[in-house]
Amino acid sequence: MDENLRVEDGQETVSRNFIEQIIDEDLKEGHCKAVCTRFPPEPNGYLHIGHAKSILLNYGLAQEYNGRFNLRFDDTNPTKEKTEFVESIKEDVKWLGADWEDRLYFASDYFDKMYEGAIKLIKKGKAYVCDLTADEIREYRGTFETPGKESPYRNRSVEENLELFENMKNGMYEDGEKVLRAKIDMASPNINMRDPVIYRVAHMTHHNTGDKWCIYPMYDFAHPIEDAEEGVTHSICTLEFEDHRPLYDWVVQELEYPNPPKQIEFAKLYLTNVVTGKRYIKKLVEDEIVDGWDDPRLVSIAALRRRGFTPESIQKFVDLCGVSKANSSVDYGMLEYCIREDLKLKRPRMMAILDPIKLVIDNYPEGQTEYFEVPNNLENESLGSRQVPFGRELYIERDDFMEEPVKKYFRLYPGNEVRLMNAYFVTCTGFEKDENGRVSVVHCTYDPATRSGSGFCERKVKGTIHWVDASHAIKACVRLYENLVDEEKGVYNKEDGSLNLNPDSIKVLTECYLEENLKGAKPYESFQFVRQGFFCVDARDSKEDALVFNRIVSLKSSFKLPTQQ
Ligand code: ATP
Ligand code: MG
Repeated sequence: MDENLRVEDGQETVSRNFIEQIIDEDLKEGHCKAVCTRFPPEPNGYLHIGHAKSILLNYGLAQEYNGRFNLRFDDTNPTKEKTEFVESIKEDVKWLGADWEDRLYFASDYFDKMYEGAIKLIKKGKAYVCDLTADEIREYRGTFETPGKESPYRNRSVEENLELFENMKNGMYEDGEKVLRAKIDMASPNINMRDPVIYRVAHMTHHNTGDKWCIYPMYDFAHPIEDAEEGVTHSICTLEFEDHRPLYDWVVQELEYPNPPKQIEFAKLYLTNVVTGKRYIKKLVEDEIVDGWDDPRLVSIAALRRRGFTPESIQKFVDLCGVSKANSSVDYGMLEYCIREDLKLKRPRMMAILDPIKLVIDNYPEGQTEYFEVPNNLENESLGSRQVPFGRELYIERDDFMEEPVKKYFRLYPGNEVRLMNAYFVTCTGFEKDENGRVSVVHCTYDPATRSGSGFCERKVKGTIHWVDASHAIKACVRLYENLVDEEKGVYNKEDGSLNLNPDSIKVLTECYLEENLKGAKPYESFQFVRQGFFCVDARDSKEDALVFNRIVSLKSSFKLPTQQ
């Protein structure tokens, strides 16, 4: 929870988070004039909820300070990157509302600058070509306890280095035969500063630059250059880069950028019992455990969108999480809380029966239909009302009837009277069973004097159930989702690191009946189904005459905001 969110006299007052405090100070001291942030995804997978945090944080800061926000693809590693991912990332960032205007960049746009930067370092005696193998470099690097050992190639002359580096560029060496290393300090307590590799030979085709290059810069060298070239003032990243900051600063300083960007680290967002991490999501997709990157059980942004989450709900979630320097894990329930809060006043409340049984009102005229005017959302009058048909045969939920009621069961059972939501009181008179002994039809009688909206009714009933008129109902498919992983066992198997999957993470109900007003519901459109939860039209599988809904979230929640406890 955001330690900067405090409740005083019932009013939320938000103090500045640590990043805002740094930026305030930088502006005050004149270290920068205008703020520029960026989101730098590697196009090797789809974005997930953790990236949403980074996007909204960077974009939010740019907005707050009237600055700029750039989208830049970190495509320095040609093996893993795909254009499919570039397109999906753009779509996701846009959907979240983060607007990069005309500032869409690629790290590969700067390959020439990076090459020039490397030459500059060589000329300053700050970089050298090294012939050690990858294993030898690792061995020479030392450990936390022991200092590293200098490479025998460390003291090559500037001329020799220039020549060898040019040869590297011209394709004269095999992959791994030579690298360019920064000449910093093999005895540094920070291992990242022990002459890190900054360029490697890799004969690979790049999705953007094709075969122009056979040497590629390493992330730690490339990233500060990209930031500096774009005039990024605050380069916000996650905590694992904290130990890389001295190298970041070294690069921008040695390359003599006049207004060097500042790297600031914050803690990654983790969700309890949820698979985040591109690698793991990718594996679930490749192993066909889920049905693609946008399977609604995942927390990729595409999946959340397909499930029915809104950008507003994700913004709210990110705001509630706050920014912090300490790693922690947030309950998935908080994300559910945010979508419920977002939809509860915005979306209409409709009637849908997910597990149907027939209810026949024996004293209601055959063939008659009457319409009830029903408000779309009792808490938000501006959503208006609709006409809902009613007739002699209805569908109700199977668990709204019990042959033999348990204690405190107030819904239908023989002899009991309940309210049919927005309609009449009915009294159960009997039931029928099919050849398997399962209840198939429930019979009842209604009392015309109890018509909803007709005013005073002296009787009270304890139970209210919802229903759908059988002759007007639309049949649909509804998917109920549970956590993809087994919460009892934890996300990862302790023995082999595999995922502990929940075998019941999806339940497909193919015989659901919806009120006819749901006809024509469009992809991504969401509704509350009364007493059930929030549901969204599946954008992939739903058809006009065969609707498919995903349950976004049920109505019940065990999650409470800390301030409500
Ligand atoms: P993953 O580990 O999930 O593959 P990544 O860090 O490799 O993620 P990148 O594409 O390199 O993914 O990250 C783009 C940006 O998103 C980086 O600035 C990174 O720090 C940030 N980011 C990634 N995961 C999270 C997270 N869980 N919470 C907040 N920010 C994140
Ligand atoms: Mg990464």
